[in-house]
Amino acid sequence: MSRSTDAPADDRDLEAEAAEPEAGHSGIPFDAVCVGCGQRRVKRCEQDPEDLTSFKHVCHECQSGTWWNPVQALPDLDGDAA
Ligand SMILES: [Zn+2]
Repeated sequence: MSRSTDAPADDRDLEAEAAEPEAGHSGIPFDAVCVGCGQRRVKRCEQDPEDLTSFKHVCHECQSGTWWNPVQALPDLDGDAA
């Protein structure tokens, strides 16, 4: 068993990602995939958690605003964030 910094997608700390500045400051956290580079990150978006439509968000890999395809909403991550 080896551990690297390149953690697989199913071993992520979603709570930590949602707390990062690049996730955004307002809205509901969504687990989303960047259409530019394909990375999967938590990004906040002010839209209905039931509405999994693409939204624009900055991607630090692409270094610009790109479209993100939400995989699932993660409203529970905000449970004890305050
Ligand atoms: Zn990207």
